[in-house]
Amino acid sequence: MSPLEEHGPHLPIGTDLLTARDAAREAIRTIKKQKPELTCVLFPIIPLGYSKMASDFPGTVSTQIKALKTVVYDVCSSLARFGFKYYVLCTFHMDLGHLKGLYSGMNKVMKAHKVKIIEPWGPYFYSKEVEKREPQVGFDTKKEVHACFRETSLMNYQYPYLVDPCYKDLQSIYRDLYSPRVLGKTFKEIGISEGYVGSPARADSDYGRWYFQQIVETYVQATLDMMEGKKPPELPTQTQLLMRSMFWLH
Ligand SMILES: [Zn+2]
Repeated sequence: MSPLEEHGPHLPIGTDLLTARDAAREAIRTIKKQKPELTCVLFPIIPLGYSKMASDFPGTVSTQIKALKTVVYDVCSSLARFGFKYYVLCTFHMDLGHLKGLYSGMNKVMKAHKVKIIEPWGPYFYSKEVEKREPQVGFDTKKEVHACFRETSLMNYQYPYLVDPCYKDLQSIYRDLYSPRVLGKTFKEIGISEGYVGSPARADSDYGRWYFQQIVETYVQATLDMMEGKKPPELPTQTQLLMRSMFWLH
């Protein structure tokens, strides 16, 4: 579940959706090998999400945060009635407003039904796990945020025919999108005129393969942990505070 979203002049608007869907599919394959007794079902892709930041560029379709909560609650409640017990919500879109909608929906479902729902990528992403684990690439990757080195590498690995070769000539653009001052603003409001933040020109499909595998492994591990009754990974406290401070309506 991720929005259709502008990803610079070079990546598809389905970048987050395709990544989450493909990683979920791959995670199911791995889980089936390790635990053949489990029945895993991949729910169809839900192309919805909150993205105010990229909303002034064509291609971004942003849903209200409240609507996301409703969709998560309604879909999971329907499935709960048929006996589904464990849910892994896969999103690659890490906007805090988006996560707020998802987490609110998840919490509401868990209050209403005897089910467990996890969202594995947020905790990995906001704990900066990628920076701790990634292979040496020879430059500072801390400022890679949107349609950047990482996402362009991912798409070069997964869908090279959907990447416009113009990415090779794009200049690096950096901005801290997670500072409280920038929360709730759009790219254009903070002076980002090209719709990407980072250095897409450095993209490398080998890195993309590594990164994709990280997402798959994160889904797999979180799922197996949930099945064993372990405590699910959580968003860091600071991230939770920022998320809660976001308004419901924009
Ligand atoms: Zn993205």
